[in-house]
Amino acid sequence: MQIYIHIPFCEKKCNYCDFLSGPADASVREMYVNALIKEIRGRAANVGRHDRVSTIYFGGGTPSVLSAKQLGDLIFTIGQEYSVESDAEITIEVNPKSADRDKLYFLRANGFNRLSIGMQSSHRGELELLGRIHTYEDFLTCYGNARDTGFSNISVDIMTAVPGQTEQMLASTVDKVIALDPEHISTYSLTIERGTPFYERFGDIEGPVIGEEAERRLYWMTVDKLKDRGYRHYEISNFAKPGYESRHNSGYWKRKDYLGMGLGASSCTVTPGGDERSRNVTDLKTYLENPLAREESNVLSRNDMIEETMYLGLRMMEGVDTDDFEKKFGVTVRSLYGDVIDDLVAQGLIYEGSSSLSLTDLGIDYGNHVFAKFLW
Ligand code: SF4
Repeated sequence: MQIYIHIPFCEKKCNYCDFLSGPADASVREMYVNALIKEIRGRAANVGRHDRVSTIYFGGGTPSVLSAKQLGDLIFTIGQEYSVESDAEITIEVNPKSADRDKLYFLRANGFNRLSIGMQSSHRGELELLGRIHTYEDFLTCYGNARDTGFSNISVDIMTAVPGQTEQMLASTVDKVIALDPEHISTYSLTIERGTPFYERFGDIEGPVIGEEAERRLYWMTVDKLKDRGYRHYEISNFAKPGYESRHNSGYWKRKDYLGMGLGASSCTVTPGGDERSRNVTDLKTYLENPLAREESNVLSRNDMIEETMYLGLRMMEGVDTDDFEKKFGVTVRSLYGDVIDDLVAQGLIYEGSSSLSLTDLGIDYGNHVFAKFLW
């Protein structure tokens, strides 16, 4: 089983972000941590000690806005209530501005063994446009402190398709990150989301604001650079040195069980009737009053599970394992999707191996079109 902990706080809202996150004062953060501890304890009763936890992921928001003590209390409670494997991958997302040397030292000493640093860009202008609170120099300090305090598994986020971003600008950001030699790099293409300052500024734009063609050019330039430097392109937006693929996110794409806790967190748990997807309440006041309240919960039908297996599995470069699929669902992928597969293979969008189905490079460019073909 995997555990996700949602920390919905940030020092300031970024201009492009529509995540469930925002600023909050110290007293609200403290109330939230107390509620989260209640939820961690409350949900443990349903999970049982036999469900071993292989990964824990603190995401947000910006988990590093919490104090070292609060983060320590949360990880300590998880360790008390759940059976965490001794080599579990324990990740925390940090903003360079809110993760100083002391906090990083404390986190490492308290079991966190993987950092995900939201760098986004090495250019001051881009960071300002995005509304990030940190500078590239802050990131360098944070990265150096992370290494000094013993983090040997670091992921760095890069934002692509930022308005005004040229190939040279993105190339210099990517080169600077590669020079630091992190174990993992994620690249996310900016999209304009309703309700954000960027939506007000750029309007209701479908797809990348810099245009589809330019965005694809930047994407493939990034892929080529990272592959040249030994990073394995293992998921559409993710790259890792061999052995450093995110175990937590890979579990999500492979539809492993996960328990999400915190405001608005989703879970997927196996029940005798089928996999159950549920979501915590998204209203902070309601969550603080009752951290075990669910906003929605439904047992997936077999067709839902098949669809998810296909479109999540295809996000990974290794693709869908068709032998596993047959073991799980008792039918072959081909018997369900033979015509779709033949069509997509003929168009050069997917590759059919002896026991896998995966996107081709062209298929990556038309990913959403391909995924839609596997929906009933
Ligand atoms: S730090 Fe992350 S979660 Fe917070 S506002 Fe910025 S993009 Fe959103």
